[in-house]
Amino acid sequence: MQNLLTREGLTRRSLPYGRQWIDEDDIEAVTKVLRSDWLTTGPAVDDFERNVAEFAGALHAVAVSSGTSALHAAVHALDLNPGGEVIVPAITFAATANAVLYCGGKPVFVDVDSSTLCINPALIESLITPRTRAVIAVDYAGQPCDYETLRSLTRKHGLTLIADGCHALGAEYRSRRVGSLAEMTVFSFHPVKHITTGEGGMIVTDDPELARRMRVFRNHGITTDHRQRSERGSWFYEMVELGYNYRISDFQCALGSAQLKRLPERLEMRRKIADRYSEQFAGEERITPLSVRPDCRHAYHLYVVRLGNNGGKVDRNRVFQSMREAGIGVNVHYIPVYLHPYYRQSQGTAPGLCREAEIAYEEILSLPMFPQMNDSDVDFVSNLLKEQVHQQ
Ligand SMILES: *Cc1c(COP(=O)(O)O)cnc(C)c1O
Repeated sequence: MQNLLTREGLTRRSLPYGRQWIDEDDIEAVTKVLRSDWLTTGPAVDDFERNVAEFAGALHAVAVSSGTSALHAAVHALDLNPGGEVIVPAITFAATANAVLYCGGKPVFVDVDSSTLCINPALIESLITPRTRAVIAVDYAGQPCDYETLRSLTRKHGLTLIADGCHALGAEYRSRRVGSLAEMTVFSFHPVKHITTGEGGMIVTDDPELARRMRVFRNHGITTDHRQRSERGSWFYEMVELGYNYRISDFQCALGSAQLKRLPERLEMRRKIADRYSEQFAGEERITPLSVRPDCRHAYHLYVVRLGNNGGKVDRNRVFQSMREAGIGVNVHYIPVYLHPYYRQSQGTAPGLCREAEIAYEEILSLPMFPQMNDSDVDFVSNLLKEQVHQQ
């Protein structure tokens, strides 16, 4: 990728952990909308919703301003009572649990499976109370959770299953795409994700009533949008509940649709990069890639390794530091959500709540993963990581 000039005057590579890929088709699609009549909610929004729904295998889709607002809309659609509980995995981006707080609910943290860092379904049942309304499953790094177990569990207890699929657009579980596996599935189109709209998000669902509620919610709680009113020649509208302005613009959605066309080939590129990393780390005792279950096709938003483990300890923070100094944008996804100061203060959570999540948090490292990486980029990162680990 880019070359940085080091103090020694040598060039070296600089690799972020993820980045967008915008080509001329994307730019053309956006400028076409900029020359049209609609900048915000217009025909490109409808198109993008149809395209993502079709791709993900769902009947309805609601496009919104971010993955976070998509999560908010999905949890809002549950119509939680105050203090209503939603079970969320300990390891995820804070927005997953924040959405529950936005709606006056209580996130209840469940530990993750140590080999995949996805929610551990075996631990869910003991956390269910009469106040539990839903489970949010996060397809960590791009690997679908164990949806069969999750679905039978949520069905048995009358709970709604929401998938936070922000890492997993294009991932498959038993030959079904993420988007068709839960009652609502949330996607993000932030630039580090599989496809981007700058900022943006979407919820897909087969349930027309949930879709309707989320559409109203993204537009202040108003039952018709500006375009529908203008088409009907009517000024009249009513606000039926307290909503937000979570709309996404037409030119963003034009970008999204253009990006989606390239997704299948770019998923293949991500999978090739992951395979090459995994080959590089085969036989490394203290570098363990997360495991991939045989009934899943991983979408590799992230490529995550655990350092140390049975082969002996590794100081992950030192490795992190050296890799960063070498221009490699490694990262840590994520600190267990309940360890954030805000959660400790507002929810009274403390270390010790989810053991596997806390152990993983000390050991995980996300390596650069984006489709423009070539073999030599992957080898460069792998060799540097091996060197750093061997030195300890
Ligand atoms: C990116 C992400 C979000 C939030 O998406 P934004 O579009 O950045 O608001 C939520 N959950 C997970 C797991 C994510 O990775």
